[in-house]
Amino acid sequence: MEEKEVFYNGFCRAQNQGRMVACVYVKEGEAWRVDEADCAYEKCPNREACEIARQIRAGEREAGWK
Ligand code: SF4
Repeated sequence: MEEKEVFYNGFCRAQNQGRMVACVYVKEGEAWRVDEADCAYEKCPNREACEIARQIRAGEREAGWK
């Protein structure tokens, strides 16, 4: 399975500070899916307003992105 690691910087509302979040994406067909994120992305109540979460979702939408 093809994987890649991507780092995102931004302001984390959960920690109330700037931080870097490492994400591991796995390729499924032509799309990338987040497999791991080293923040509380999956269950975070702030994710709709979070700039880092927005970047994580954008990474999933970029089909064929390397
Ligand atoms: S999704 Fe939540 S835990 Fe992850 S960076 Fe954004 S505010 Fe922080």
